[in-house]
Amino acid sequence: MKIGVLAVQGGFAAHARMLAGLGADPILVRRPADLGDVAGLVLPGGESTAMLTGLARDGLEAPVRAWTRSRRPVFGTCAGAILLACGVAHPAQRSFTALDLDVERNAYGTQLDSFTAVVDPGGAFPGLHAIFIRAPRIVRVGDGVEVLARVAGEAVLVRSGAAWAATFHPELGDDARVHRAWLREIS
Ligand code: GLN
Repeated sequence: MKIGVLAVQGGFAAHARMLAGLGADPILVRRPADLGDVAGLVLPGGESTAMLTGLARDGLEAPVRAWTRSRRPVFGTCAGAILLACGVAHPAQRSFTALDLDVERNAYGTQLDSFTAVVDPGGAFPGLHAIFIRAPRIVRVGDGVEVLARVAGEAVLVRSGAAWAATFHPELGDDARVHRAWLREIS
């Protein structure tokens, strides 16, 4: 299954590695034509302002926005989750309004305040170590959005159908359960 990985900026290589390890065929998306025949699209972590700048520069912003809003499978992690959200604060910026969420960027402090946390028991991925790097916080979850994992009671992995978003980095480390579950969901 061909899965696009937005490769404008940020941690796309680790997503591609993890997807390939699970038997998918990752396609690095750098121009609109790359979206042609992918079955799903991953928006990686990185820096969402830089990503938007690169998307606009490369003529990708409108096609990627339209793709994410088309109810096709999409998975945004960290900066990618910020791009998918409806409301973005701290600082505010435009987003794709593909998932009914509001986020606050850089909500745990600077890059130095990055951390790992085990998700709360009782969710879909027991024992998962979630890696947060200058992470956003989900401050509102819409009615149709299901919370798949929490840390300290707060949503960190959510989905609405085949649209998933994580505020952490499931592509880092060797626990592939989140990617595997998303791939299973969309295949
Ligand atoms: N702080 C970044 C932003 O606001 C996101 C960090 C990440 O993707 N690791 O875009």
